[in-house]
Amino acid sequence: MKITNCHIHIFTIDHIPDKFLPFNLVNILRPASVRKPFSWVLRNILPFTDRDLLDRYMKFVEVAASGSQEDVLKGIKHYYPAGTGFVVLPMDMSYMYAGNVKVDLRDQLLELSMVKKKYPDLLHPFIAVDPRREGVFDLVKEFVEEHGFEGIKIYPRTGFYPNDDRLYPIYEYAQKHKLPIMSHCSRGGVYTKKVTDEMLDHPVRGKVKRLKPEEFSHYFTEPSNYDQIMTDFPQLKMCLAHFGGNLEWDNYLEDPWDEELALEKDPCWVSQIIHLMKKHSSLYTDISYTAFHSERYFPLMSILLNDDSINDRILFGSDYFMVEQEKKTEREMAIKVRYALGEEKFTKIASSNVRKYLKH
Ligand SMILES: [Zn+2]
Repeated sequence: MKITNCHIHIFTIDHIPDKFLPFNLVNILRPASVRKPFSWVLRNILPFTDRDLLDRYMKFVEVAASGSQEDVLKGIKHYYPAGTGFVVLPMDMSYMYAGNVKVDLRDQLLELSMVKKKYPDLLHPFIAVDPRREGVFDLVKEFVEEHGFEGIKIYPRTGFYPNDDRLYPIYEYAQKHKLPIMSHCSRGGVYTKKVTDEMLDHPVRGKVKRLKPEEFSHYFTEPSNYDQIMTDFPQLKMCLAHFGGNLEWDNYLEDPWDEELALEKDPCWVSQIIHLMKKHSSLYTDISYTAFHSERYFPLMSILLNDDSINDRILFGSDYFMVEQEKKTEREMAIKVRYALGEEKFTKIASSNVRKYLKH
């Protein structure tokens, strides 16, 4: 069986905007010689109250600053059996009001296409799409048609709705060429540092109130945003990554609510996603980050995989190296997921389902 991890990142510190981390950490921590002593100072001298958060920043930077995209890939490849495939998701963080990105998206993609040439059977590179980037549709066509990229990654929390008009020609192209789309769908992860006036026009809810950016960003990501898109593009292979994310998995397990509520009123993103997957036959989800966050979710995951109406569209992924911020290693968690689900279910999500989602 060939395993494919449908969700990893190998971008580096050069693709992160310079105000992405607090206290100018992105620039300070860039040279490796500074990272260790500086992290010691932060830990031991500065009154940094949230040590857990600091540890996560440090681990994140440790991987992101480790050199090239190929170096980051080498960091994950050997956690999996030889021959494992990886869907690589680049990021466009240029429009999230977090400062300048040292290396432009186009160069990030060109570097990734060189890595793909070295590992042609293992890598499935996607193109990061932000509707605010001028000429983004041309970029998609160029990297699909000339460099063999296999899908599209969107990250609405950086400040746009997936329903953005400018994305529609790209969805049409993706549907026509059977290109899968991966969209971040959880309450965690990076987010726009600014809420602009046009962001207040929500495509489903109408006018919404201005909130702090971190809270407002949930509007971009809500699963119900995809109902209209999937109605307009019924054959579009769209994956809502993270299955709503760990906070929503906690809500699903802890909170009672009326399951008959309309989609927009349903408080839980996990049940919203299930509802949408039953309604739209080419909507997918993946268990990346979420499954790797806590073993608490394994029983529910296994039970959801008994449901024949959705279990052919749930994908295995890890979210390396975002998930490096967690305490356990990639190998240990991947093995735990495989053991908990059993070979039959694991084969389904890590092999046959991912094959169906990808073009080949
Ligand atoms: Zn991710």
